[in-house]
Amino acid sequence: MFSKILIANRGEIALRVQRACREMGIATVAVHSTADADAMHVRLADESLCIGPPLARDSYLNMPALLSAALITGAEAIHPGYGFLSENADFAEMVEAHGLTFIGPSPTHIRMMGDKITAKTTMAELGVPLVPGSDGEVPDVEAAIEVARQIGCPVLVKAAAGGGGRGMKVARTLDEVAEAFSTARAEAAAAFGNNAVYIEKYLDRPRHIELQVLGDNYGKVVHFGERDCSLQRRHQKLLEEAGSPGITAAERTALGAIATQALEKFGYRNAGTLEFLYQEGQFAFIEMNTRLQVEHPVTEMVTGVDLVREQIRIAFGEPLGYDQSDVKVSGHAIECRITAEDPETFAPSPGTVTMFHAPGGLGVRLDSALYAGYRVPSHYDSLVAKLIVHGRTRPEAIARMRRALEEFAIAGIKTTIPLHLRILDDAGFQSGDYTIHWLEQFVAAHKV
Ligand code: ADP
Repeated sequence: MFSKILIANRGEIALRVQRACREMGIATVAVHSTADADAMHVRLADESLCIGPPLARDSYLNMPALLSAALITGAEAIHPGYGFLSENADFAEMVEAHGLTFIGPSPTHIRMMGDKITAKTTMAELGVPLVPGSDGEVPDVEAAIEVARQIGCPVLVKAAAGGGGRGMKVARTLDEVAEAFSTARAEAAAAFGNNAVYIEKYLDRPRHIELQVLGDNYGKVVHFGERDCSLQRRHQKLLEEAGSPGITAAERTALGAIATQALEKFGYRNAGTLEFLYQEGQFAFIEMNTRLQVEHPVTEMVTGVDLVREQIRIAFGEPLGYDQSDVKVSGHAIECRITAEDPETFAPSPGTVTMFHAPGGLGVRLDSALYAGYRVPSHYDSLVAKLIVHGRTRPEAIARMRRALEEFAIAGIKTTIPLHLRILDDAGFQSGDYTIHWLEQFVAAHKV
């Protein structure tokens, strides 16, 4: 096994990876920007190095600095976490070119799935159903209008290189297509340096359901069930569940079979997530993420599998060592993403945490790098804690999450804890009968 791993990330996910390493007897190297010198991931690592100034592009996205840090400290592998360089095929290639192991999929597969048009074409060839839409890239306004006419409005113009919910524009009528196309294209060029866009039918009441997979280097792919990530604001996930309250065990099995067979055909390795929209009994693939997801803990809670440990084992060359039939999903898990934001206006709320009390008890897990006295920097993502609970049933998990959120005390910064409590108390949420549009409507209805 590796003896030392560098974790090219910060915050809760850097801690999460450290925890797996420590349990496996692997030494950890933390990297940090000057804004993160006091961060918990730095304090708890075996070694740490400063890799640059606060701006992410100068530090956490600074490839030469990260590679130097790995070489100086004698790390044998790099875990990228999520975000930052986790889906950067060039970085994965550079890591390998320096004789180190990138803990993730092959650069070829990262590149293939990083372009959503290629991802969709590949999946379609392998028999995975897609959301109806354009056949690849849409080159100009005329072509966009023609596609919209064929599939019918509303349509969604999406950036091929899109991510994080950016670069997407809805056209509700044919008259809106030209503007949606131009705006999406300009945004895509500015945000991703790639102006390629494609068009999908805009589904009016889908659920977002995604499937967690792991593949080893020997052609075997196993899935770990689904997560329901329909509760989103501005296409960003806020609360996730495993399993989905909207699909049956038979649908899970069928989806799992289609997905794992497809991935085995192209030899996918390490962790990945296939994202689908689900409406009227039909699954339609939208994209694949070639990395660990923020919401991976809900899957860990219902399967008992440490996904980061598995990623490290696979990267080292170990076989999965178990079959699909060995993966058991039991009970129900919920994750609340807690951000340093005003729970009503979503205005960022960086600052110093003056008091911190973590919830606990049976079935409660907290993934957070906060501590009393810590100053939340303004330079990075506003996620400060993920609270995850497991219960034997969904109602038990909801009751447990309510209880844990009430116990959770963070003073000095505003957080979204009150919003999560309101969601959990809502009969619509409790019924489990929600779509990707539910949360936006809920937030609008509860504005004060
Ligand atoms: P990103 O990579 O930016 O996260 P995705 O393609 O995963 O983009 O889409 C993010 C979210 O946008 C989805 O979870 C869903 O809520 C919404 N979305 C994407 N495609 C469609 C579609 N065709 N119809 C309706 N909603 C969509």
